Amino acid sequence: MYDVIILGGGPAGLAAGIYTGRAWLKTLVLESAVIGGNAAIADQIDNYPGFPFGILGGELMENFRKQAERFGVEIRIEEVTHMTNTVDGKKVVTTEGEYLARTIIIATGARRRELEVDGEQEFLGRGVSYCATCDGAFFRGYPVAVVGGGESAVKEALFLADIASKVYLIHRRDEFRASPGSVDKMMNNEKIECKLNRVIKRIEGDTVMRSVILQDVKSDEEEVLPVEGLFVSIGLVAATEFIEGLVNTEDGYIITDDHMQTSVNGIFAAGDIRAKRTRQIATAVGDGAQAGMAATEYLKE
Ligand code: NAP
Repeated sequence: MYDVIILGGGPAGLAAGIYTGRAWLKTLVLESAVIGGNAAIADQIDNYPGFPFGILGGELMENFRKQAERFGVEIRIEEVTHMTNTVDGKKVVTTEGEYLARTIIIATGARRRELEVDGEQEFLGRGVSYCATCDGAFFRGYPVAVVGGGESAVKEALFLADIASKVYLIHRRDEFRASPGSVDKMMNNEKIECKLNRVIKRIEGDTVMRSVILQDVKSDEEEVLPVEGLFVSIGLVAATEFIEGLVNTEDGYIITDDHMQTSVNGIFAAGDIRAKRTRQIATAVGDGAQAGMAATEYLKE
């Protein structure tokens, strides 16, 4: 029986662990893939306070991990498949086994949204990617495209501009959600060309992808864009499949109060998985700290 099981080892989960570990609570973090989550595969992070010249995502999250482990937090790589609230405690079922806890903090975050067009699954790993930092190096010297108009898409386009021969930024509108500073940098990068008011109709190729077919949203005209890679960066979807109605959600995201308490006593949520407006590493860390303290208080009571 753990005092606290934290689902997800990203910024929110590890920050929560630092707080519960420091409060001498027996804490287990379960992470399905990469310790540090999406933040660990981010390139340069420039807006996390304390690093005046920025820091690599992997380095920042490695520091989070070390700090949590210093306070006795146990971290395991296991995928959570199911969770129930039983009279004996809160039960977490993973691909490897079952664990019981007195409190749970859900910090599983969100994953990349899929485009859902023909060719996306067929050319996945053969041109189509959801992570420029992970796969960008395969496209050195080749033309690529990024789809999306948020901070992630613009950052990926800028990252790829140093690697690819040419980068097309495809966006369905002519206004961006990305910050003006990032948009400005992109507009001033001569290797990036914006294809605005365009949607992707399908992805074509042979053994690997060779082009994307664009459609102008105003004129309906189609255009073939010859690119060897497509980076899909169109936002996030909540990773809550394993909860199955256990706590209240809105569009898949978990509803909490200001103390990160969900609709079930003793189950807290923190970070990108929460129904909220801002999804940043700094806000995830704030959520995690709050959830860690709330879980500690709940156990004292
Ligand atoms: P986002 O801000 O939600 O932007 C998603 C973009 O994809 C939007 O431009 C949207 O178009 C477009 N889109 C959505 N569905 C689409 C579809 N089916 N087809 C074509 N385009 C589609 O997502 P994000 O860029 O991944 O960012 C997520 C969060 O992380 C945000 O809060 C962001 O600020 C944060 N973030 C921060 C940093 C940082 O360094 N500070 C870096 C990355 C991300 P519309 O605009 O037309 O809706």
